[in-house]
Amino acid sequence: MPEFQTSPGMRDILPPESARWRRFVAAFAETVTAAGYGQIIPPLLEDIGVFHRVGEATDIVTKEMYDFVDKGDRHVALRPEQTASVCRAFVQHRPATPWKVWYSGPNFRYERPQRGRYRQFDQVGIEVLGANDPYLDVEVISLGWSFFKRLGLQQVQLHLNSLGEPENRQNFVAALQTYFTDNIVRLSDASKTTLAKNALRVLDSKRPEDNEVIAGAPKISDFYSDDARLHFETVQSGLRALNIPFTVNEKLVRGLDYYRHTTFEFVGGTLDSAQNAIGGGGRYDGLVEDLGGPSTGGIGFALGLDRTLIACDDEGVFAPSPSPVDVFVVDTAGGLEALIITQQLRDAGISTDRSYENKSMKSQMKAADKSGARIAIIIGTDEVSAQSFVLRPLRGDEQQSTISRSELIPSIMKALL
Ligand code: AMP
Repeated sequence: MPEFQTSPGMRDILPPESARWRRFVAAFAETVTAAGYGQIIPPLLEDIGVFHRVGEATDIVTKEMYDFVDKGDRHVALRPEQTASVCRAFVQHRPATPWKVWYSGPNFRYERPQRGRYRQFDQVGIEVLGANDPYLDVEVISLGWSFFKRLGLQQVQLHLNSLGEPENRQNFVAALQTYFTDNIVRLSDASKTTLAKNALRVLDSKRPEDNEVIAGAPKISDFYSDDARLHFETVQSGLRALNIPFTVNEKLVRGLDYYRHTTFEFVGGTLDSAQNAIGGGGRYDGLVEDLGGPSTGGIGFALGLDRTLIACDDEGVFAPSPSPVDVFVVDTAGGLEALIITQQLRDAGISTDRSYENKSMKSQMKAADKSGARIAIIIGTDEVSAQSFVLRPLRGDEQQSTISRSELIPSIMKALL
């Protein structure tokens, strides 16, 4: 075993998997750019206060943060998610609203690593700040949905809920508190601890011993104001109009205090239930305000790249594919001519690889084959003195040809058409 390996929960993403990651982000970028979203690239590290404002009652912030004091005595943290950074950036730069942004990149959470749960994991996501229209909720959800379809995923399900307005939610939480306290003996020990911190999060419990108590708990829908009900109904009718199937799941509460109205989760059809959420989001108010800005509504989602790719593997879609070059330069003439020709081909926009260290013709042809190239150029000493080179097609059954130096690039371009 080598002395150094990746830390627990951290992974090297090697080719060709890394190319799949790039394609994933590119497909996401295309989906959301076409809907008017611009990219934000926030730093990986923020003042810890930015994240504390977001979720003082969550494990993400209380237990899982990678935080430290930097050389300037600032208490900072690696981001556990990116919504907080987006809101901090909004307050700092005050862009015109609605502000529609997308992001991608790694987040860090000190969790117990397992399949689909890592300490460094990537997300792509969008946020819109400064608009409260329920049809915006539909747009945001539909972009996530379209992206999954674009990847080829068929088994993703959309779970939807509304937490109503802040007052509805407060009354609901108070009713939950009373209900769970009255039934505390029937709760698991873990949920008893959760109840002391946040009654809403007891609903998140996936422990079977809690099922019965949770099933009898008060329902948020009994607490909606007229406006909250209308907002939720409008979102649902918008989704129906776009033929996006969904299930209303009243247990979907997302523990963070700043969520309002619409919350949703995309659930993979094939993953274990503890890790089956491949993305989620919702509408939030108060977050921008908590970070020192004006009262501003927001909505967004984040999709886990690592977990979505596991769902893709399970469904047999969006497979990793090698990125072959077009041309491979085989050289037995000492290397200088190969160096120049390789450069000229690359400058002409033809993807080209070559071998080094004067390997035998046989081993170079093997490398050419492995590279996936469609054509090999063979440069031997005779060819250098005659200034004409052999083009050997590596796929199909075309014959090789001998091409003069001046015709080399045009002939290759033609052959690659
Ligand atoms: P959250 O920010 O917790 O709502 O998570 C949004 C999505 O990010 C989840 O649905 C997962 O796909 C992904 N995710 C969250 N935590 C992890 C993790 N530790 N490892 C891998 N993916 C994660």
